[in-house]
Amino acid sequence: MYGIVVCPKCMQIQGIKIEGRVSYGCNGCRQRHKISKIKIWNRVNSPEEVAEAVALVKEKKWGKEKND
Ligand SMILES: [Zn+2]
Repeated sequence: MYGIVVCPKCMQIQGIKIEGRVSYGCNGCRQRHKISKIKIWNRVNSPEEVAEAVALVKEKKWGKEKND
């Protein structure tokens, strides 16, 4: 299981493996974040789906004028 997360520090959107993991390292700011503390925007089952899911979250997050 992979989760699409948005870094609370630098807003980097990335796909991470969430099964059995407690934290992840951000590609943008190199900070480690607790997965339980951040929002999972999307979930996919295979690494092949991660890129598309990231694109969808980007669209959702930046594509609209509306605030969250
Ligand atoms: Zn970051």
